[in-house]
Amino acid sequence: MPDYDFDIGVIGGGAAGLTVTAGAAQLGAKTLLVEKEKALGGDCLHYGCVPSKTLIRTAQVYHVMKHSRAFGLPAVELPPVDFRDVAKRIQSVITTIQHHDSAERFCNLGARVAFGEAAFVDEHVIRLDGKTISAKSWVLATGSSPAVPTIEGLNKTPYLTNREIFALDRLPSSMIILGAGPIATEMAQAFGRLGTKVTMVQRSGQILSREDKDMADTVMEVLRGEGVTFHLNSAVLRMQDLGQAREVTIRTGEGANIPLRAETVLVALGREANVGGLGLERLGILFSKKGIEVDDRLRTARKHIYAAGDVNGRYQFTHAAGYEGNIVVSNAIFHLPRKADYTHLPWCTYTDPELASVGMNEKAAKAAGIGYSVWTEEFRNNDRSLAEGEEVGKIKLILDSKERPLGVQILGPQAGELLSEWVAVLNGKVKLSILASAVHPYPTLGEINKRVAGTFFSRKIFSDKVRKGLKFFFHLKGRACGAEAV
Ligand SMILES: Cc1cc2nc3c(=O)[nH]c(=O)nc-3n(C[C@H](O)[C@H](O)[C@H](O)COP(=O)(O)OP(=O)(O)OC[C@H]3O[C@@H](n4cnc5c(N)ncnc54)[C@H](O)[C@@H]3O)c2cc1C
Repeated sequence: MPDYDFDIGVIGGGAAGLTVTAGAAQLGAKTLLVEKEKALGGDCLHYGCVPSKTLIRTAQVYHVMKHSRAFGLPAVELPPVDFRDVAKRIQSVITTIQHHDSAERFCNLGARVAFGEAAFVDEHVIRLDGKTISAKSWVLATGSSPAVPTIEGLNKTPYLTNREIFALDRLPSSMIILGAGPIATEMAQAFGRLGTKVTMVQRSGQILSREDKDMADTVMEVLRGEGVTFHLNSAVLRMQDLGQAREVTIRTGEGANIPLRAETVLVALGREANVGGLGLERLGILFSKKGIEVDDRLRTARKHIYAAGDVNGRYQFTHAAGYEGNIVVSNAIFHLPRKADYTHLPWCTYTDPELASVGMNEKAAKAAGIGYSVWTEEFRNNDRSLAEGEEVGKIKLILDSKERPLGVQILGPQAGELLSEWVAVLNGKVKLSILASAVHPYPTLGEINKRVAGTFFSRKIFSDKVRKGLKFFFHLKGRACGAEAV
């Protein structure tokens, strides 16, 4: 058997790569992690989840301050936002979390961390800084980058992506956002709340197109109410740099060409897998801009080379990358065949209100041809929501024809947190009756979970059939109000 330098080599120090590295090293595998940037952590830490959620929180606080009257507090005159201070706060949160993702920590776990850009020489060997390094198994965890489509004039017009947006030295007075996925929508609300005049351009007729339309439309209405302008069913024709402003010409669904102007443009039109420069062509590994092709065990066409995280183009979330990292550890280190299963993979868009989802929504159930029923409960009927001044939204429970949960979507305050109970219910195949009868603390937003399960059962429990049975066996006398006088 050939003598390789390492048992396993990991290319990319983001969520997927770090998970594999920590798992493999702690299990005693001689592990190499290669990262091309100066620090570990990947997109999530430096240009994604962490900066975006920090920015969202800052924008939310400013928004609440501006609306102090709604909470019975005096109105406050607020000075404009200095984005350098916002960017400083973002950087300080990143720096704090960076300690957790430091090279020293992974070294302490037993892995070798090397910085540089790796490329394959052959199916077991990479070249790094002019040296060759071999490993028995390899993991491609190189992540993704913002997709920048071919638009006339784009290459001559300055624009922002998620790489630049969190480190601006001033708040843009206006911003056109191309795209209306989760990143675009979160940024639209956050910058809008901080004082930027935001316009969103979306090709399809709905924002957050993976979500059910009723939920996405409510998010859009909230943002519209906060001053964001939407152009749906609109294609970008061209972009132009006007010096102090940028011009984006769009063609609307009605066929009109409209020039939009703003100080800056954010391109948030999806993601492309980081597959270039790795020498994958030489290895016969199949890939496209969308991602590297893998089987259920996350193996590429070369069975000892795995691809996990954004780079395989499946579900581009940090928790999906972590999950896939663990699948790779099972397969590559334990040699226990384990397949990735995304049936109950949750996700959340961190707008205010948040939109969180696990399992199938109506769109997915329809696409799969599965019969379903929908059970809903509104946040305006939840006492805690009213106390918090957060009344927009609802929970949707989707049941199959055998009345088993297919999925849950929550649009409302702290939806991502509330979803966790459903993640446990769906993964643990917990009966709805257990959730409906479990006592939840009052007053909490979480009562909505119990309540929607209860809605389903109350139709059965309080049916005419049950009422008649009880009346017959226990001689109940029936209605007291609106019935004949006693
Ligand atoms: C603005 C924004 C907000 C987001 N918010 C959320 C959120 O709230 N929740 C959520 O779950 N997800 C969110 N995501 C998605 C999340 O960031 C990604 O799904 C996650 O980072 C994927 O992890 P990864 O390990 O696959 O890739 P990455 O984190 O991108 O890591 C890949 C690493 O590989 C390195 N690399 C690339 N090529 C090479 C090479 N040749 N040699 C060596 N190293 C290389 C890169 O430098 C990088 O460090 C967000 C993304 C963005 C852009």
